[in-house]
Order: sequence, then C-alpha cells, then structure tokens
Amino acid sequence: MKHLEVAIIGAGVTGLATARSLNTRNYMIFEKSRGPGGRLASKRLNDFRVDIGAQFFTVRDPRFQEIVSDAVHTGFVERWRPRMGTFIMGRAAASPDTQERFVGFPYMNAMGHYLAQSLTIKTQLRIATISRRDNQYHLASTDGELYTASQVVVTVPVDQMTNLLPSYDVQEVASRFTMEPTWTAVSDLGTPLSDQNGDPLDALFGGDHSLFDFVSTEKSKPGRESSYVVTHAKPEWSAVHIEDEPTSVQKQINTALETTFGVSVKPVIAHRWRFARPTDPTLTTQKGVFEIDDGLWVAGDYLAGGRVEGAYLSGIEAAERLNR
Ligand code: NAD
Repeated sequence: MKHLEVAIIGAGVTGLATARSLNTRNYMIFEKSRGPGGRLASKRLNDFRVDIGAQFFTVRDPRFQEIVSDAVHTGFVERWRPRMGTFIMGRAAASPDTQERFVGFPYMNAMGHYLAQSLTIKTQLRIATISRRDNQYHLASTDGELYTASQVVVTVPVDQMTNLLPSYDVQEVASRFTMEPTWTAVSDLGTPLSDQNGDPLDALFGGDHSLFDFVSTEKSKPGRESSYVVTHAKPEWSAVHIEDEPTSVQKQINTALETTFGVSVKPVIAHRWRFARPTDPTLTTQKGVFEIDDGLWVAGDYLAGGRVEGAYLSGIEAAERLNR
C-alpha cells in the first residue's frame, strides 16, 4: 500500500492549485475522469472542440493575476473581447463594458493543462471512501486500490462528499454550501447573434430572461472557427428540467434561441452539470477552506464565491494549511 504525505481528491482548478503550492513532492491527485481541468471543460464535436463548462474567467486577486499573466505569456490563455449583451424584458440588448475577460487557448481546457504541468495526477481512478485509522487516512478506490495519507484535501462537489466520507458528519457543510445545476446546450448557428437593432453581439448575460443565463459564440473566442453557440440555462430552469432527456432540453433551448434571435438553429448536444455553481455565492468560509478533522480539509469554488478565481484561491489556501 502506497503512503502519501498529501492526497488530493479532484484535478479541477482547486486540486491543481493545491498541488502546485505544496512543499512536499510526496502527494498524488486522484481524478475520476480522463484529464485535468474539471469544469474548465471542452468537448470534441465533429471537427471542432467547444467549451461546455466555464465560458470565461475574470481576475481580481493579485495571486490569481500572477498565474493568469504567466498562462497568457506562455500561450495557454488569451484575452477575450466579446461584444457583450444582456436580456432586458427577454430581448437581446447591447451592454458593452470594459471588464477584462480571459479564455483558455485554443480551448478552455488549456488552462487546466497549464496548471497540471509537471504535477502527479492519477486519472481514471475514483476514490470511493476515505476513513481515519491509526492516525492516518485510508483511501479506497472503486476498483480496490488502497492508499494511506497523512493529510487529505477533498475538492469534489459538496454533494458528493457524504458518500466519500462515510464516517464523518458532513451534513452541516453539505446543507449550507449547496450547489445548483446548469443545463448546457451547444447549437450550430448559421447567422450571427444580434440585438434588437440588428447590431452584432458575441455573448450575452442572462439578464431577466427566464431560460438563458449565458449565451456565447465560439467564433468570438481567439483562434476558433466553428459556428457553435453555447447556451447555459439559468439554475432555476435547469433544476426544473434536471431529469429531462438531453434531446428534449436541446429542443427547448434551441426554440428559445430561434424565437429570441429570429435565427435558425441546428441542435448539437446538451450536457447536464448537476453541480455547477454555489446556490449562494456570497456564502463563503474563511479563505475558502474548511477542516473536517485533523489534516482532513475540504476546498473548492463553492466555499469561495463560485468563480474560477475562487477555485484557484481556495486551492492555494488549502496548500498553505497542509504545509504548516
Ligand atoms: P463578470 O465580472 O464578467 O460579471 C459578473 C456579473 O455581472 C455577471 O454575472 C453579469 O450578471 C453582470 N455583468 C457583467 N458584465 C455585464 C454586461 N456587460 N452586461 C450585462 N451584465 C453584465 O463575471 P465573473 O464575476 O467573473 O463571473 C463569471 C460568470 O460565470 C458569472 O456570470 C457567474 O454567474 C457565472 N458562473 C456560471 C456558472 C454556471 O454553472 N453557469 C458557474 C459559476 C459561475
């Protein structure tokens, strides 16, 4: 059985940021999927990839600024300068601003690959349970692999923590820091999006629209050629339709795009993010981390405001505590 100084569950932004800031080299990140990045996700569809998770990120904290500047410098991230819009009384309207926004280059998952460089990640391995015995943590994977660790940081969505930590009462955190779903649809649009006056728009916040939360055109992002449009549905709408078939969700989102923009739309895919964002992003823990037991920490964007930057800062705060 392999012993680790630190075990990190999840190779999303929080887990990657934690690993990058650790003092020890004797750590492992465990990731159930095939690669790093978590919700900084892009999916291959026909001849192109397309961002299906976070559509962009912004920077406020100097610690995140430092890493984003380096990612820009090394070509993994670029500025995105969309002509922004929003929905007012359900109709598209221009809402230009001066906010700096960033995207992964050539696709959003590049930011995950940037952060993952030279880290030790065991992918396609799902940790089923974590328990404490003889002053150390015992991790068991779903296919029977066993590890021990002196310290652990759990970065999975809060709703999956209850199963992972069966001997702990995580109900208090889990019931306060709930997460909401986001249905995402990718559609193929022949015509560009525009506002009521026919002026072109690249991306729109949801404003007061009952379905749309964010609509974004791939072509407006640096280096992208596809005519795909990505629509994130509002959390309330996504919750109501959470068990709908993807084809039905696609149909409903495409109809809304067609009637709102007067365009014709070809459906491509729909993807359900069950745990996309915190229900209340203003609810945070001190520094975005939480200690469940001696040396057992939870961290993640849902404890730190729900943005990509929050995920990163939560990770480096977790590492600071593990390094003590
Ligand atoms: P930001 O600073 O660019 O914008 C913050 C908020 O201000 C936006 O949510 C929007 O409501 C409003 N806003 C900003 N510019 C606007 C404009 N030009 N016109 C109209 N409204 C405008 O973004 P951020 O704080 O970095 O947050 C990233 C975004 O990602 C947020 O919108 C957040 O809600 C969203 N998010 C979505 C999910 C999901 O699953 N769909 C998960 C996490 C975060």
